Amino acid sequence: AESWNEVPLAPPDSIFKLTAAFKADQFPQKVNLGVGAYRDNEDKPWVLPVVKKATSVLLNDPNLDHEYLPITGLPEFTSGAAKLILGSDSPAIQEGRVTSVQTISGTGANHLGALFLSRFYHFSPEGGRKVWLSDPTWVNHFAIFGNVQIEPVTYPYYDPQTIGLAFKPFLDTLRNAPSKSVFLLHACAHNPTGVDPTRDQWKEICDVILEKGHYAFFDCAYQGFASGDLDNDAWAVRYFVSRSVPLLVCQSFAKNAGLYGERIGALHVVAPTTEAAARVKSQLSVLSRSEISNPPAHGARLVSLILNNPELFNDWKRDIETMANRIIEMRRELHRSLTEELKTPGNWDHIINQIGMFSFTGLNAEQSKAMVEKAHIYMTGNGRISMSGLNTHNIRYVAESLDKVVR
Ligand code: PMP
Repeated sequence: AESWNEVPLAPPDSIFKLTAAFKADQFPQKVNLGVGAYRDNEDKPWVLPVVKKATSVLLNDPNLDHEYLPITGLPEFTSGAAKLILGSDSPAIQEGRVTSVQTISGTGANHLGALFLSRFYHFSPEGGRKVWLSDPTWVNHFAIFGNVQIEPVTYPYYDPQTIGLAFKPFLDTLRNAPSKSVFLLHACAHNPTGVDPTRDQWKEICDVILEKGHYAFFDCAYQGFASGDLDNDAWAVRYFVSRSVPLLVCQSFAKNAGLYGERIGALHVVAPTTEAAARVKSQLSVLSRSEISNPPAHGARLVSLILNNPELFNDWKRDIETMANRIIEMRRELHRSLTEELKTPGNWDHIINQIGMFSFTGLNAEQSKAMVEKAHIYMTGNGRISMSGLNTHNIRYVAESLDKVVR
């Protein structure tokens, strides 16, 4: 029988490992700042009230069945999702140039987008089959592109000196990369740094991308979650579309609708013509068919109700504000405790300038380890903390521990 002796043991996923260590810890004041999911002020997962409402609408629908969805997904979901990210008045949508396919959340959208490029993108002989990822980025990006034989390489993004954007090196890399390179861009709320370009910086990035004929691969996992406003967080994507940058967008409803486990997302490819969009759709359909046959129905139905019913859509906007505002409030409070109360050495303005679920604290690997081992505050070795792990009960303890670790 096959012994699989030659199969090397893979290392456990670092985030899941961190969560397991947190669960096993008996210390009463322990804090989990590793999680990539929203928690309320009582440190509990939050089912959005609008999702509860939409669920009850579904449950009371006498015509609900469990038939297969079309291969490219629930049409009312994909059309609503396209409008959400590109804008309800998007000329690209009106001109029929947008192809949208339902995916297994944002991860599936990234995979399908990468698979599509690996089959059909004209990588230049000079550039080769590469994708440029921000340094750092969501670690899964490396594996997702590697799986489809596209080599991940990185562009400078984060400057540890300023705990902000390494704007000039980023632009220089865009300029020096071979024409028609593929650049992965985080649409908003960059994971893991929380550092986003300003609008003026996005404009310059866009200029260079157009000049060089690069392809923009947008990953949008946090629309609405960043600023609390869905349109505001879609600004960069919409701006690039208005300038006719060739691009695609990976969209997730895990964070902004709290539907992590439902695996609901979409891939949108903006094509130059209606005909091109139809060709792209036919191939995405073939690819999706071979991998998942048909996408899951439940999350698509929930999000479709929310996107297409004005009352539910308004409820959703309110729920998104609730989440975003709590996180923004935690940023302010952490910043205030460190700078005003504890007079912690160093500049902590990045805590309030960064945006979204995560913050790069600027802590080095040794300090991050001390937070875990001495203070029982679980965070990744790169100094990243999940802001949603903070609440009014633990924020003082976290601030004091940060203070001790950097002194
Ligand atoms: N992209 C980025 C940048 C992310 O942070 C995440 C979630 N951690 C995803 C994509 C995908 O998440 P999901 O598959 O749960 O939608």
